[in-house]
Amino acid sequence: ALDWMSGDQTPPPSAELRPEVPHPARMYDYYLGGKDNFPADRAAADQVLALSPLVRISARANRAFLQRAVRTLAELGVRQFLDIGTGIPSAGNTHEIAQAVDPAAKVAYLDNDPIVLVHGRALLAGAQQGSVSVLQADLRKPEAILADPAVRDLLDLRQPVALQLFAILHFIDDADDPYAIVRTLVDALPSGSYLALSHATGDFVDPAEAEKGPAVYKSATAQLSMRTRSQVLRFFDGLDLLEPGLVTAPLWRPDQDPQDTDAEVAIWAGVGRKP
Ligand code: SAH
Repeated sequence: ALDWMSGDQTPPPSAELRPEVPHPARMYDYYLGGKDNFPADRAAADQVLALSPLVRISARANRAFLQRAVRTLAELGVRQFLDIGTGIPSAGNTHEIAQAVDPAAKVAYLDNDPIVLVHGRALLAGAQQGSVSVLQADLRKPEAILADPAVRDLLDLRQPVALQLFAILHFIDDADDPYAIVRTLVDALPSGSYLALSHATGDFVDPAEAEKGPAVYKSATAQLSMRTRSQVLRFFDGLDLLEPGLVTAPLWRPDQDPQDTDAEVAIWAGVGRKP
């Protein structure tokens, strides 16, 4: 793993940006209105946006859910955050929200995308020394994440941890058994830990429409596997869901009165506590 806090390392040779291949992190950055994307990312993202204006709304709703969930967890007393599938830094990143509640909060950011790691440096410039790491890791290798010395240096896995899987599990194919991955991670955390996640769904469109988004991602570096509400609910097996349960992202403890359309935003969102 790479720990950008620890010095002036340059990206390893494996950190290939492959600007010509659409990348989900950069497509998502484009949905959010960010500038860290290449023409191939924008072309693929524009194809997805042409399918449904809800995509951009869903991306923004997901990001806003992330922020409310992190704030909620920090207010519940969580001081350690394992944020896998960090994405390209955007306004209101996990450490900014958590450290606004307690400057001592620690955040391990993990992503398998080299561009996310590169941007991690800029992200950390304003972060509290020693409290944030940006590491390269693949969610499909949960044992390696748990054994990673840089993760263990930062986080005490005997104390409660918020495991954050925001908008990443839909990039894990059934063949890679996302349920076993989540179970492995949750099993390694003590009672009082939390799982916060969001997940793309095709539940609100007819099946033919729902296939079109994943089709665009076929040319990208990760495939999109949308799941139904009951499939997403299974990730919380053995955990106690916080109120209001598994809902569309805008409906999870909204700051403002929900809009009529919020019930059908294509992102399921929830937070569960390990008993
Ligand atoms: N969590 C952020 C960003 C979501 S975009 C948010 O919700 O706002 C999804 C991120 O998951 C991208 O940065 C992508 O690079 C990362 N990702 C996709 N598959 C991954 C994998 N197998 N391991 C680690 N990160 C992955």
